[in-house]
Amino acid sequence: MIGQHPADLGGHGGGGPTEHANPTETQMEDFTNTHILVGEFELIEPHTLAQASESLRTHAGEAVIMAGGTDLLVGMKMEHIRTKYVISLGRISALKRVDTNSDLVIGATASIRDVAHNSVVRQQYCALAEACQSFSTMQIMVMGTVGGNLCNASPAADTAPALLALDASVHLTSGVREREIALSEFFTGPGGTVLSDGEVLEHISVPAPSLSTGSAFLKMGRVAADISKVSVAVTVVRSEDRVRQCRIALGAVASTPRRIVAAESELLGEKPTISGISKVSQLVQQAIEPITDVRSTAAYRRHLAGVLVGDAFRQAWLRAGGGEIT
Ligand SMILES: Cc1cc2nc3c(=O)[nH]c(=O)nc-3n(C[C@H](O)[C@H](O)[C@H](O)COP(=O)(O)OP(=O)(O)OC[C@H]3O[C@@H](n4cnc5c(N)ncnc54)[C@H](O)[C@@H]3O)c2cc1C
Repeated sequence: MIGQHPADLGGHGGGGPTEHANPTETQMEDFTNTHILVGEFELIEPHTLAQASESLRTHAGEAVIMAGGTDLLVGMKMEHIRTKYVISLGRISALKRVDTNSDLVIGATASIRDVAHNSVVRQQYCALAEACQSFSTMQIMVMGTVGGNLCNASPAADTAPALLALDASVHLTSGVREREIALSEFFTGPGGTVLSDGEVLEHISVPAPSLSTGSAFLKMGRVAADISKVSVAVTVVRSEDRVRQCRIALGAVASTPRRIVAAESELLGEKPTISGISKVSQLVQQAIEPITDVRSTAAYRRHLAGVLVGDAFRQAWLRAGGGEIT
């Protein structure tokens, strides 16, 4: 089902040997996909989240959660992940929801495709719709989930900048305690999150935007079916011809997807101009920490980040009802 994994966690860029012009044999071995599941494991398929949490507690330290499996199974085939038990969330129908009645609520196993095709998401949460539409292949969009994309915690995870720019939070549960945290506090490093042993991401929630809000997501990869060299999402809230609020988030330019708060305040209360946006791009370029890896050089990533931020800002501003920026 799955080919060479493009969203591994080798470095900030989200994949491949990093900072090495000539990868050594050992580094290349790290990326060999055997295409078979070598280790034996037991597949557990609970029908409720409570059962999943109980299984996680019973097999503490020996089990992993699986949503769509598009990252996990590749990791197991490459023997980066060895486990005795795989607990699949696939039979828990309540987790597949995409609820748009007030705030947007995305269940842990809602597929990338279901979110990309949701009409309310496409109208009101453009950055997220665009991030999901940008996924490389239909098979991955159908099997892959937004929850899995976040929990895999690749610095290049495409839904992450969009959800950060939309001010999302994640709801985590262990079956015993529940907590809700801002997505901006969720990632701790490549492949790392604040999820503790036995904890599962249950849903993601995104506040409903006001009418004068616009958002946009842009990414650049080497080819269409590849993860990002750089991804950018911007949300702007407009008050007449001025910027009332702005959130800017990037992927594949630091150890985690992250907001660039230093650049967000630059245009607050201002009428956006070409020179103002150019200052925002410069602030972003100064704040990011891109690296060189198989997908791009650090210098190109820095350049691209500035260009994409400017383009995404202009698109978000237009969608917020603002006019052409001169
Ligand atoms: C060919 C190919 C193309 C790809 N293209 C892209 C792309 O364009 N953009 C992109 O961002 N990614 C891409 N990916 C990576 C991958 O498809 C996505 O990250 C996907 O969203 C992962 O979701 P999943 O449901 O398959 O996660 P899984 O593989 O099931 O899980 C991923 C990780 O998260 C954990 N996990 C999953 N759900 C939960 C939960 N609810 N609670 C706690 N932990 C959980 C798992 O234990 C595992 O460690 C691609 C992968 C492949 C193989």
